[in-house]
Amino acid sequence: MRFVKKDRIVPEAFNSIVQATINTPGHDGYNSLGRNKKLLLQSLIDEQHSLCAYCNQKISLETSTIEHLICQSHNPNLDLNYHNLFAVCKGNDGKIPTSHCDKYRANGKQNGYFFPFILFEKCISTSWDSINPFFDIEFNSKLRLVSGKIIPREANISGFPSIKNNIQNVIDMLNLNAPILIEARKEKWQSVLDTKQKRNLDWKALFDYYVKIESTDFYEFVLIAIHKQES
Ligand SMILES: [Zn+2]
Repeated sequence: MRFVKKDRIVPEAFNSIVQATINTPGHDGYNSLGRNKKLLLQSLIDEQHSLCAYCNQKISLETSTIEHLICQSHNPNLDLNYHNLFAVCKGNDGKIPTSHCDKYRANGKQNGYFFPFILFEKCISTSWDSINPFFDIEFNSKLRLVSGKIIPREANISGFPSIKNNIQNVIDMLNLNAPILIEARKEKWQSVLDTKQKRNLDWKALFDYYVKIESTDFYEFVLIAIHKQES
């Protein structure tokens, strides 16, 4: 999971769509977007580098929907609030039990407090010297094997005492280790290894190569997995 950058100032593309809707007499907020819903979704996809806010797989207009972090039933006044809206994948079309992301979260069986890690600035973007403090990947250091599973990071972060359970809760609530996602991550990892070989890069150079391609699917997973190889 990766930080989604949202500035204080609402982007013009987003704002003009929302204004047009709320200036319409008798509107019903988000439910009155009509054809503009697609435009709104596209503006969210663009700011997220075409990655699902939760699982980070590649998304497009056809394969994504708009997610309300605080759902409409809990606060209808935030239904068109820029900072509450994200683009997410269709979670394997909600096929239980293999669904994931918001489709899994929305099935009503999830308990616990949902931590919006995607909005924790400075805490979420991986660089060579500062790795994602919340999420880790399952890695067999003896066999140098990447399983495709994501796990909570062990270490505590200053200012966030004992949040390992909360991170695990987010992984569980979104089913981020659904078999279909594990397989997709393993496949991605194989393509990263192929790139390493083809371009003849060491791990650090490979990291530098991918960190610049912000639309890399499973972006944080890829960066953490490369970083692991040097640990
Ligand atoms: Zn997703």
